[in-house]
Amino acid sequence: MKKKLGLVYGGKSAEHEVSLSTARAVTQAVNFDAYEVMPIYITPIGEWRTGSPLTSPAATIEELRFEGNGTDAPDSIAQFLQLESKPDVIVPLLHGTNGEDGTVQGLFEVMNIPYAGNGVLASSAGMDKVVMKQLFAQAGLAQVPYVHFVRSEWEMDNERLLDEAETVLEYPVFVKPANLGSSVGISKADTRDTLEQAITFALKFDRKIIIEQGVTAREVEMGVLGNDTPACSVPGEIKPVAAFYDYEAKYQDGNTELVIPAEVPEEVSDLMKNMACRAYKVLDCAGLVRADFFVTDANEVLINEVNTLPGFTPTSMFPLLWQHTGVSYPELIDRLIELAVARHTEKQ
Ligand code: ADP
Ligand code: MG
Ligand code: MG
Repeated sequence: MKKKLGLVYGGKSAEHEVSLSTARAVTQAVNFDAYEVMPIYITPIGEWRTGSPLTSPAATIEELRFEGNGTDAPDSIAQFLQLESKPDVIVPLLHGTNGEDGTVQGLFEVMNIPYAGNGVLASSAGMDKVVMKQLFAQAGLAQVPYVHFVRSEWEMDNERLLDEAETVLEYPVFVKPANLGSSVGISKADTRDTLEQAITFALKFDRKIIIEQGVTAREVEMGVLGNDTPACSVPGEIKPVAAFYDYEAKYQDGNTELVIPAEVPEEVSDLMKNMACRAYKVLDCAGLVRADFFVTDANEVLINEVNTLPGFTPTSMFPLLWQHTGVSYPELIDRLIELAVARHTEKQ
């Protein structure tokens, strides 16, 4: 009998549409001889809706978008929990809050269903940039200096916190909400005044913020795949496209050009592999992550972050890195499902 593969996509997130495209691409790559695909759609207001099982690829994203009826999100989740026919394995294709922060992973844990990718701990630790950096420091990984605080501390004594930031860091600095992705709420500051504005702005998105030393560096990323003994892909570089480049190139792939494999010396690539594996281990990752680094002109390598549910369309960095390493998009999906089942079996 075919296994039931639950694809969870959409979500109450800025990346809702991207997630729908990813889900469609996954239905085009999945082996329908082995799997019956159960579409599990989360509407923009957070309702969970399931559609009829798919036995062939979705031709358009509209086939995967099931309109909500205004049910309260918790009620629709309660209905989902009572599903008569539960999926044998779930592939979450969500980004941001409630998708890659461990909350939805916790739901699959309590339902006792194997799911692809990172567990609760790695997902939530990877979503909080402060916790993530504290763990990276514990693992001895080189990274930029930073300071952090929560809203109530800022409201109590903002001058002291500005002094502290100016003592530990040099301008320019990057101010970020601790718990978001996709660059939301992030700004660069060059002076005490702009720093103060950047903090006020970041605090609109989160009660906790981090201020980091700005670096002038290339941005090079690596894919990691596996459970306890993960493998690394070739490195890939993100290059911002110059303003005068044509619009299509600019908007098709979100203002950036990907160079894969990245042109870095072998020792830089080896160091990135070593650091990516140590980051994977210290966060107790499973399935996959995309590890993002800064590489300076002097070839110093600093880890910036890991993304526990990286962009997963066929033209996203993570699948492209694996394609260049010899793992095709359909193979990558099979591998993530195998890893999900292996991890679940190990826990039983
Ligand atoms: P997100 O999780 O939203 O992707 P990042 O920490 O990766 O957040 O920051 C988004 C982008 O901002 C980075 O890809 C990089 O271009 C820039 N950036 C972030 N931190 C720094 C830093 N300390 N120095 C230089 N550039 C940075
Ligand atoms: Mg991120
Ligand atoms: Mg990033």
